[in-house]
Amino acid sequence: MPELPEVETTRRGIAPHLIGRRVSEVRLRRPNLRWPIPTEIAQLLPGERITAVQRRAKYLLVETAIGSAMWHLGMSGSLRILPQDTPPRLHDHVDWLLDSGQMLRFTDPRRFGSLLWQPVGTIHGLLAKLGPEPLSDDFSGDYLWHASRGRTAPIKQFLMDQHIVVGVGNIYVAEALFAAGIHPERDAGSVSRVRYARLAIEVKRILEYAITRGGTTLRDFLSADGEPGYFEQELFVYGRAGEPCKVCGTTIRVMQLGQRSTFYCPKCQR
Ligand SMILES: [Zn+2]
Repeated sequence: MPELPEVETTRRGIAPHLIGRRVSEVRLRRPNLRWPIPTEIAQLLPGERITAVQRRAKYLLVETAIGSAMWHLGMSGSLRILPQDTPPRLHDHVDWLLDSGQMLRFTDPRRFGSLLWQPVGTIHGLLAKLGPEPLSDDFSGDYLWHASRGRTAPIKQFLMDQHIVVGVGNIYVAEALFAAGIHPERDAGSVSRVRYARLAIEVKRILEYAITRGGTTLRDFLSADGEPGYFEQELFVYGRAGEPCKVCGTTIRVMQLGQRSTFYCPKCQR
């Protein structure tokens, strides 16, 4: 599933091909993805010039003077820049033709992705109550410490709550908690200010590193061929149950927490 680093990598990959371009035609091969595609996409977008491509949580916002198209990649979605004469395949659901002669193509075998519309001057309901971006200055150890006072939820679930901070998915929260030496089951409200300062730094470091490597699944935006990423070989705990800890040699464990697999080192994480 695309996590924040993959979405940010996608943004950086497609933005130079979109910004300043006019959408000349929108081709929808089906009326809905996860949700119905709003009529504004086909009716209002053609003729508009793209002014920016932003990311909020795992949404990509393609901005124009009249509003923003909101893409979500869901479980298996991808956006690529292709020549306009590239024949569509089975799971290619949406094309935006651009005045550059290229097109933006959305492919999604499982169709959990979405394409929505946010009129200019409004904030879509899905974006309205989200916590800060983990790579922004609003996300810090002090912010986490204040937000966690009185919380008895395990710190892993606290960090994955989109009202607290957006986009720190299962892989990255596991790696950040390991790097900060914090046990995933510990009560969020019992973690000290000093340890939260370390945790915030590790969340940022791990996400930024993953972005430089193109996320856990590197995508090639200009061709249909993906290449494997390198980040998976560099994970310390995620997906490593039964293997020795790279720091202390203790066997990495896995448990279910909030119905998600949770990997940790019982010695390094307290
Ligand atoms: Zn260890």
